Amino acid sequence: MSNATTYQLFIDGRWRDGSGTLTVTNPATETVFGSVAAASASDLDEALSSAEASRRAWSSRPSKDRGEILIAAARILATKVGDAAKDLSREQGKTMAEATGEYARAVETLEWYGTHAEELSAPIPHGPNRMIVPEPLGVVAAFTPWNYPAVLIARKLAPALAAGCPVILKGAEETPSAAIHIVEALRQAGIPDGVVNLVFGVPAQISEHLLSSPIVKVLTFTGSTAVGKHLAKLAANNLQRCVLELGGHSPVVVCEDADLTTAVPAISEYKFECAGQSCNAPSRILVARPLYEEFLSRMTDVARKIKIGPPDDLSTEMGPMANARRVEAMQLLVKDAVDRGARVETGGARLDGPGYYWPPTILTGVPKDAKVLHDEPFGPILTVAPFDTIEEAIEEANATEYGLAAYFFTGATEAKRALIGGVSAGAVSVNYLKGVSADAPYGGVKQSGYGYEGGEQGLRSFQSLKLVNGLGSFG
Ligand code: NAD
Repeated sequence: MSNATTYQLFIDGRWRDGSGTLTVTNPATETVFGSVAAASASDLDEALSSAEASRRAWSSRPSKDRGEILIAAARILATKVGDAAKDLSREQGKTMAEATGEYARAVETLEWYGTHAEELSAPIPHGPNRMIVPEPLGVVAAFTPWNYPAVLIARKLAPALAAGCPVILKGAEETPSAAIHIVEALRQAGIPDGVVNLVFGVPAQISEHLLSSPIVKVLTFTGSTAVGKHLAKLAANNLQRCVLELGGHSPVVVCEDADLTTAVPAISEYKFECAGQSCNAPSRILVARPLYEEFLSRMTDVARKIKIGPPDDLSTEMGPMANARRVEAMQLLVKDAVDRGARVETGGARLDGPGYYWPPTILTGVPKDAKVLHDEPFGPILTVAPFDTIEEAIEEANATEYGLAAYFFTGATEAKRALIGGVSAGAVSVNYLKGVSADAPYGGVKQSGYGYEGGEQGLRSFQSLKLVNGLGSFG
């Protein structure tokens, strides 16, 4: 591996090697182009002790100073977006436009928490005699995945640091560069040694080691429901507070009055971003029967025209999937649905040649027991089905164990009311998709997790609220 890229660990303010390495692969070519350091148990112990050693000074540092470091890091990161986006695109497979857009969101998140650090750390008066005093909970173990590594790291690091908590971050081994760029921006901005530690390695070993330490007070994780439950069990031993952002299987309800010229491109854009590997991507489209044929024809047409290709080609609209596991998962979901009688309207098979390319795929006539209606697809697969009444649409929308996001297209007040109230999801959007931002809380219900990221609530996850009674009695 000549000229290979090597990514290191960052422990106690120093970039360093680990005890071994793991390879990093380009999903567009299936070639290994670099390696990432793997932490040993003693590296993790050093990360724990340096985080704990920095805790007191960081938590007692004025919150305004903490905020200023985050704002400085945001500005440094903003100057690096061009190169950082290229790295992200090479190892994740997302297009350059997607990678650049993701970094813009990471910068915005660092800036938002930097700006609000002081206000959200301030004591809150509670009547004439009482005060609520937010206090940082202590060392955070943060685990981030490979689909949106830049923005998801920012959504964990920024609020934890603003609240006054040191962090041990486990970046995604398959997409390590985002963690490297963000941690380096924090280092250059003057984050004290030990306040941010970055590790990579064998995920199960790292989580078990960190969560078995009483030094860690908060677990924050984004990933699958199965892993989230496993980590919550580990965290139970030390009663570590958990923020779990888990899977999703988001419905879109397209009502009879929906404007298809808005709905179809909006669904397509959000669905096929990052090759569908997004926890809140729409995956089950329910269409009012009178619009069904027209919707399906337009949606299939748009999906077929999406330009698939290398992520560094600026004309590419959808890159490869991030790894071979996702392609295998797509194959299994489509085969299972087709075996049960579903129809493939477009896509449905891996593209030839090197690279983990899977085309936009639309399935219809999918029986209710098909896996694709229950397992999170986490890829460019959509199911489309007709409905006759709003009640039926709500029942179908709720027919998975997930409850992360839901989307509705209608102008009718009654339908909006029924859908907003009736569909179980952490976030719903009307005539609009997307909806995740730095300034607002976002979190799941049901098996999509608990706790919030974003906004004030995203920072409160890292604080205890100390109730101070009887202030009047002290004069
Ligand atoms: P996976 O379940 O093995 O891993 C998901 C993430 O969790 C990865 O980042 C992985 O490094 C991490 N992880 C796995 N085991 C861990 C452990 N014991 N301790 C700490 N971290 C651990 O599956 P995968 O193939 O990497 O991803 C596919 C599935 O993960 C998808 O089907 C999707 O449901 C889910 N996922 C969700 C999100 C999200 O944004 N909610 C992001 C990535 C993956």
